[in-house]
Amino acid sequence: MNVDNHYDAIVVGAGPAGLTAGIYLSRSKLKTLIVNEGTVGGQMVLTHEIANYPGVENISGYQLSNIMKKQALKFGCVIKSNTSITSFEIHTQLKQITLDDGVNYTADAIIFTPGGRSRTLNIMGENRLKGRGISYCATCDGDFFTDKEIVVVGGGNSALEEAVSLTKYASKVTIVHQFDQFQAFEHAVEEARNHPKINFIMESTLTEYYGDDKIESIDIKDLKTGKISNFKTDGVFIFIGYIPNTEFLKGSVEMNTSGEIVVNSDMATNVAGIFAAGDSVAKRYRQITTAVGDGTIAALATSNYIHQLKTTNKPVLTH
Ligand SMILES: Cc1cc2nc3c(=O)[nH]c(=O)nc-3n(C[C@H](O)[C@H](O)[C@H](O)COP(=O)(O)OP(=O)(O)OC[C@H]3O[C@@H](n4cnc5c(N)ncnc54)[C@H](O)[C@@H]3O)c2cc1C
Repeated sequence: MNVDNHYDAIVVGAGPAGLTAGIYLSRSKLKTLIVNEGTVGGQMVLTHEIANYPGVENISGYQLSNIMKKQALKFGCVIKSNTSITSFEIHTQLKQITLDDGVNYTADAIIFTPGGRSRTLNIMGENRLKGRGISYCATCDGDFFTDKEIVVVGGGNSALEEAVSLTKYASKVTIVHQFDQFQAFEHAVEEARNHPKINFIMESTLTEYYGDDKIESIDIKDLKTGKISNFKTDGVFIFIGYIPNTEFLKGSVEMNTSGEIVVNSDMATNVAGIFAAGDSVAKRYRQITTAVGDGTIAALATSNYIHQLKTTNKPVLTH
């Protein structure tokens, strides 16, 4: 074991869950490494304005990420960003990861916080207008559409429930769904169908977004006739599924059928010394605050695991 490259704990992912875990671990004097594939901050950096993080009235995602990063660095955490893991061994007592520069790092415990991504329509204009009228989160952005006319894309429980919740803000909500029926619970369908602010365009799909600085209209294709019509809108909310970034962990830790990591109330996975936190774990609500809460619990449980490991020198059952 190379002592320089040995850490008490490695955190994989530097979104709010990973950065919080890094802050707690390094503040409790554990030698901590965070490795992150992209820019530090995770999905937070995609957010122009965060208005629901307690204690901070309005802040950009970039600024909030920088504050969290500074806090972690201040306590001695090492952060390697824009790097990826090429191989790992997590079933032995000494955990090991290899990064794309070929260097091996070992640790007594690992917290995985790789987050996830919303499924996108992948049509023209989507990347350009993301966060400029196109949203994937009603709780995060609903308030920005007060008295506006918006479109919700999707036909599952999330789409219908979020469409109803968006009527608190929007003056009109149009649900666009590709099939002639919804794939949702009957009560969710009934609630949406009976809502005076909700309209439906069935058996249709979006084919293009238009707008310069913010969304102005969309093209909607009737899937029965093939006819494309332009539709004016102030915003589009897409709820067509969520993909956890856990492909690289398949077969290594227990996951549910959606690829979300299964954890207990201590954020421990089924593998001793392996914890997970944030949007990648099996849970219903995904926010910065929930990721921060998960990261805190995972770090405290990891500290306890490492303490027991060091005092008893035996792998500790965590699940
Ligand atoms: C556009 C948008 C707006 C949002 N607005 C709000 C809001 O206003 N308020 C709110 O509370 N929430 C908001 N959210 C949700 C919030 O950002 C997420 O719930 C939160 O960021 C999840 O944190 P996380 O740390 O679990 O994962 P993420 O933020 O997804 O971070 C995961 C990190 O892990 C890295 N990673 C992934 N795989 C690997 C790997 N194999 N190796 C190393 N690193 C890896 C990723 O690059 C990323 O940096 C928004 C989300 C989006 C997309």
